[in-house]
Amino acid sequence: MTANIIDGNAVAKEVRSRWRGRAETLAVSGIVPGLAVVLVGDDPASRVYVGRKTKACKEIGIHSEVHEFSADAPEEVVLGRIGQLNSNPSIHGILVQLPVPAHINTRRLIEAIDVRKDVDGFNLYNVGALVADSTVFPPCTPYGVLCLLEHTRVPIAGQNVVVVGASNIVGKPMAMMLMKREATVSITHIRTRDLAQYTILADILVVAAGKPNLITAPMVRTGAVVIDVGINRLEDGRLVGDVDFEGVRQKASHITPVPGGVGPMTVTMLLVNTIQAAARTCGIEFEA
Ligand code: NAD
Repeated sequence: MTANIIDGNAVAKEVRSRWRGRAETLAVSGIVPGLAVVLVGDDPASRVYVGRKTKACKEIGIHSEVHEFSADAPEEVVLGRIGQLNSNPSIHGILVQLPVPAHINTRRLIEAIDVRKDVDGFNLYNVGALVADSTVFPPCTPYGVLCLLEHTRVPIAGQNVVVVGASNIVGKPMAMMLMKREATVSITHIRTRDLAQYTILADILVVAAGKPNLITAPMVRTGAVVIDVGINRLEDGRLVGDVDFEGVRQKASHITPVPGGVGPMTVTMLLVNTIQAAARTCGIEFEA
């Protein structure tokens, strides 16, 4: 068996095109969706990510602003700006680009964001709402994975899903979202003994560990759907996921490549959450 490649760029393009139309509809009624990105310090990777987000906003019809602070900016100053953005009616989504410098309490910044504007979905209210089945904003990366599965028409209810990685931004919310869709979910992490005994049972395997070649063909069930969230830069400069792509594609039914799989979906779902946030201000809820 050779797997179908799930083309994240193609799905992202389709989703963006649908939501661009929705942003245009809102703009006609005088609401231009607005996103504010708070960037503290000069981490080069963060700058690249912020640049990608603002470019994507422009392409889809979202007004975006970057609120930059020097690496030694006091926490109170950043909190003050978040407060202003909370009460700015032209801003519908706010995100803090992570990581922030060590003297700043990340949790305090995220908790300061108005829950109706928390488009990353990291605020504790959103985390709780996800667990309690009434999410305000699904976190973008697992939301993107779900969207890829739905586009590929992969059945979820009743399937065995194994999530490798249990972080707050990917693994845990991913497991919650799939459980909500009635999958039987196992979560594994760095302390899991004999990872393969879990992964081999997966109809759907979602891998988000940040370890190149963690998942090899013998660990994967024939016909499984394999979603590789990992992004790793090798010493030779290549970008790879956590899955041995060439080996596993001989066994899986569907597989995401890296790059070009989950990556393009993460920014797409940020755009989706921002447009949805803007729509909610006038009582509209677009279908996901
Ligand atoms: P993290 O470091 O916060 O968490 C990693 C998780 O993987 C932890 O729960 C850890 O216990 C687990 N883990 C690590 N080694 C393991 C092993 N050998 N066996 C089983 N579990 C193991 O990372 P994160 O923020 O969740 O990101 C994970 C990966 O996904 C990274 O490569 C990151 O770059 C990537 N990522 C990609 C996107 C995207 O848009 N494609 C978005 C977010 C993160």
